Amino acid sequence: MLMLGMMKALALTLGGAAADEGRRTCVYFGSRRDCGSGGYSRIRERERERDHPSDLWQSEGEEEQFCFYSSGEEAGSPPLPQVDGRAAERLHPHIMAANGTSDILSSAFLAVEYVDAVLPENPLQPSLKHAWGYMLDNYTKFQIATWGSLIVHEFIYFLFCLPGFLFQFLPFMQKYKIQQDKPETWEKQWTCFKMLLFNHFVIQFPLICGTYYFTEFFSIPYDWDSMPRWTSLLARCFGCAVVEDTWHYFLHRILHHRRIYKYIHKVHHEFTAPFGMQAEYAHPLETIILGAGFFIGIMIFCNHVFFLWAWVAFRLLETIDVHSGYDIPLNPLHLIPFYAGARFHDFHHMNFVGNYASTFTWWDKLLNTDNQYNKYLEKQGGKKEQ
Ligand SMILES: [Zn+2]
Ligand SMILES: [Zn+2]
Repeated sequence: MLMLGMMKALALTLGGAAADEGRRTCVYFGSRRDCGSGGYSRIRERERERDHPSDLWQSEGEEEQFCFYSSGEEAGSPPLPQVDGRAAERLHPHIMAANGTSDILSSAFLAVEYVDAVLPENPLQPSLKHAWGYMLDNYTKFQIATWGSLIVHEFIYFLFCLPGFLFQFLPFMQKYKIQQDKPETWEKQWTCFKMLLFNHFVIQFPLICGTYYFTEFFSIPYDWDSMPRWTSLLARCFGCAVVEDTWHYFLHRILHHRRIYKYIHKVHHEFTAPFGMQAEYAHPLETIILGAGFFIGIMIFCNHVFFLWAWVAFRLLETIDVHSGYDIPLNPLHLIPFYAGARFHDFHHMNFVGNYASTFTWWDKLLNTDNQYNKYLEKQGGKKEQ
């Protein structure tokens, strides 16, 4: 069922069946017969629920064809995508005329929503709704944006660091340590912790204070009804990760330039065998320079204050994982296509050259900056075989 849904979603994405018309989007074009009786009644149900009637109907012989419109994020998932470009053009010429990047993006989001429609409801939804309502009733937007973001950042950072921190005391986890000849020491971890607190509260907190003004300027909603679905959150986080990874690759490479390396980036490379807490151990200027990549994606993809927190959580999870120093089996993050992982970034700390990207491997592959890493892997493979 899920596979079928994904295939349909893919067909919708590739076919570009969605098209903008002002603020509305044609999310489904087809006939009653194509969507089957179940899909047809779902369309009608959504029309009633969301007050977005299908306002384009036309009889073609015995077949009734229509275009179902909906607006932005509220768009319902299409019941059964049918890609019939010629028929669409005949029925509504400018649907096909508006065929560009925005169409592909909106189709991709709708495809994700389609997948969401075939998955079961989240059982935690009522509790989350209650908690969110309590927060909105008892705190101002400024308090939520400022203190909420600070708490989310601090709580998630140290929570995600905890497993890696505990691994050093568990003998059976030592076989997963990447650089086994360089164990963590209390001295290094204490130095790192002190620098972290300075960075978090002196450099990052003033930036966090800008969150409220950012959400006001871009009219980012806080209410429960505008809350994006988790599939949309995931897709948007992935989009942000692609943008951040690109920024990180090129700026990180520049920071490694021999003329400026010693002034800024050297701090992050103080420990050649990384550990989770080291993820944000960096010169204040690096926190600002590389941290800018975190905000660019937000400008493009943010549609709710909750998304800001979801992206913070995703980015922290990823950066702490790649700095953990442990390559644990069955790590779900490796399900992400082209995910770099701990071994990839660990090599960067060990070797100083190559593997500059933060999340994905494609930039290093494309620009051949992973060649030293590949040779190292070959060598390691050869040693194991002997
Ligand atoms: Zn570096
Ligand atoms: Zn690093």
